[in-house]
Amino acid sequence: MRKKIVAGNWKMNKNSEETEDLLNDLIDKLPNDVEAQIIVAPTFVNLASAVDHLEYTNIIVAAQNMHQNENGAYTGEISADMLKSIGVNTVIIGHSERRAYFHETDTILAQKVTTALKHDMTVIFCFGEELKDRKDNQHFNVVENQLRDGLFHIANEDWEKIVLAYEPVWAIGTGETASPEQAQEMHEFIRETVIKRYGATIAEDVSILYGGSVKPENAKEIFSKPDVDGGLIGGAALKASDFAKIVEGI
Ligand code: PGA
Repeated sequence: MRKKIVAGNWKMNKNSEETEDLLNDLIDKLPNDVEAQIIVAPTFVNLASAVDHLEYTNIIVAAQNMHQNENGAYTGEISADMLKSIGVNTVIIGHSERRAYFHETDTILAQKVTTALKHDMTVIFCFGEELKDRKDNQHFNVVENQLRDGLFHIANEDWEKIVLAYEPVWAIGTGETASPEQAQEMHEFIRETVIKRYGATIAEDVSILYGGSVKPENAKEIFSKPDVDGGLIGGAALKASDFAKIVEGI
């Protein structure tokens, strides 16, 4: 069954105290009766305390990244096992900032996906075209290739652990959002691409989130599109009242 999901990617924001404050604020402000699954992704150092803090809520804690290898000499990195050991079972993989600033290629991302699935983690797999791709009318090709090279090695049964997040790079943190029609057009294409490789049942069941400058003012309209199953929210996830309004739009 396809789920509605609203996830907040906090990126490199909020120290320990600020994390506690934002979590308290979220518990206070998020609507209780909403059907969507709510996910928050604080920084690594605050994950354990967030898991503790949210123990008696329905809010899930996700990591923003993880390493593809099991363990070893990878200074500064975090493994799937480490995340699991503190109660984090969900991980964002392939965010455009990881691709651009940390040189994560499709090959590396495919390995990360494999490792996360091996540890029975849920993967929020991010992808999306850059502005030049859209201007060159290559956006569908780029998205298809990112899916094929980063994700389409997984087995049919792995799909119950996959959430897709389409995030056009030109819309991330820029204030410029894809129009609801542009989002719908791409989400429909993504679902068709999954159908071609894995069949209709898997494609119908997978949640496809939109990300890129989602705000309280535009969330409802974007979420109203039939192939948009929720959002991955950056900037607006850092203020509980904004995030709560976005959740109300689902
Ligand atoms: P934004 O970020 O909402 O600040 O555009 C979205 C994301 O990067 O996931």
